[in-house]
Amino acid sequence: MNLFVSKSSCSGCTACESVCPVQAITMQPDQDGFLYPQVNNEKCINCGLCTKVCAYQHEQPAVSDKKVFAAVAKNTDISKSASGGLFSSIATSVLKSGGAVYGSAMIYENDHLTVKHIKVENENDLCLLKGSKYVHSNTQGIYPAVLEDLKNGKTVLFSGTPCQIAGLKGFLQKDYINLYTIDLICHGVPSEKLFQQYISFEEAKNKSNITAYRFRDKSQGWKLHGAMTLENGNTIYFEPEESSYYQMFLNSYTYRENCYSCPYASDRRPGDITIGDYWCIDLVHPELLLENGGQIDEHKGVSCMMVNNDKGRELVAIYGHGINCWQSTFEKAAKYNRQLTAPSVLKPERDIVLKLARNNYAELDKWYRKRLRSIKIKRAIRQSVPRPVKNIVKSIIGK
Ligand SMILES: Cc1cc2nc3c(=O)[nH]c(=O)nc-3n(C[C@H](O)[C@H](O)[C@H](O)COP(=O)(O)OP(=O)(O)OC[C@H]3O[C@@H](n4cnc5c(N)ncnc54)[C@H](O)[C@@H]3O)c2cc1C
Repeated sequence: MNLFVSKSSCSGCTACESVCPVQAITMQPDQDGFLYPQVNNEKCINCGLCTKVCAYQHEQPAVSDKKVFAAVAKNTDISKSASGGLFSSIATSVLKSGGAVYGSAMIYENDHLTVKHIKVENENDLCLLKGSKYVHSNTQGIYPAVLEDLKNGKTVLFSGTPCQIAGLKGFLQKDYINLYTIDLICHGVPSEKLFQQYISFEEAKNKSNITAYRFRDKSQGWKLHGAMTLENGNTIYFEPEESSYYQMFLNSYTYRENCYSCPYASDRRPGDITIGDYWCIDLVHPELLLENGGQIDEHKGVSCMMVNNDKGRELVAIYGHGINCWQSTFEKAAKYNRQLTAPSVLKPERDIVLKLARNNYAELDKWYRKRLRSIKIKRAIRQSVPRPVKNIVKSIIGK
């Protein structure tokens, strides 16, 4: 039995593995480390549950009544959050009321950094979920844990990529009044294997284990700065371009195959609310910024929030009192956030990159640095050409 027609129709959400009553399905990595379900035909009893729960077999309807906001957390420390801290503000309220929060954590255990979904039940541990991990977060065993909490009457807030939310809802097969979901605007995820290879490469270079890694370090403001912490506690700060893994992630070279045809890179949102960065807020809502007399300090980070259904409205009404919101529109939020209108583009470099990584990450890093050098030279040449000359060239090419 094959659970997916092609790799582009499986997000690796683990709903099929979790629902199988005879444990006939296990998630197995392919040669690039992306997890796919494999069925043991000797154990399989052909009950069909695995295909029934698969979110990719069911189309997600578009959100009909889109309510979109620019938003920031009011009194929460958002320095460790990727954007405006909406997630931690809502999650803190859920925890204070005795609920459980599920999300993605990067954890240093057994000398390795791993990225996986975990359950958090107290505010001290919430820091584990803060911040964007640009890696596929493993959800194995998590959906059954959510189900148990729901059946025990616990309020659950589950956060993740849209395919993980769709996977959870597929697995549950019915609505629970005590479940709230937050999906992220997402442009795709590389495999954990690639991340581990990259971390080992950095560890060899720095002659130290890396005990923490942040893709969205805010010590220099709300942008795409990275930071990694060595065993001796020293932190190395870097720009995305200095890290082959980070820049190739931003270039869309390294994602799981289904990310390039993601059905949720649109207004088809499975989460009760959707959160992301409100990029270029200075262009679409300049009136909201501090420097123009508004209330938002852009340098600390600004979120975009889409309230997708009644449950989303309820979530914001009950647990959103720590958030400041300003009405926006889907068109404005999507103008500089491509992931709200189309999936990432599959580029020919993906094949090259994954093939090189199969051999040795150092080879991939070398390939990346060679390209970076030529990109930098071209950039320097472009910048050195005076604008009038550029305009003449443009008009000639234009003709
Ligand atoms: C892989 C990825 C791609 C993204 N791409 C975009 C984009 O193109 N445009 C955009 O506007 N925003 C994107 N985001 C979302 C954005 O970076 C922030 O996560 C979001 O704005 C929430 O920020 P926050 O300040 O509210 O909270 P934070 O404290 O930053 O929120 C952390 C939340 O993100 C979840 N999370 C972190 N990493 C992962 C992961 N690997 N898998 C699943 N869930 C995870 C946690 O569970 C938690 O709910 C992406 C996030 C990820 C993880």
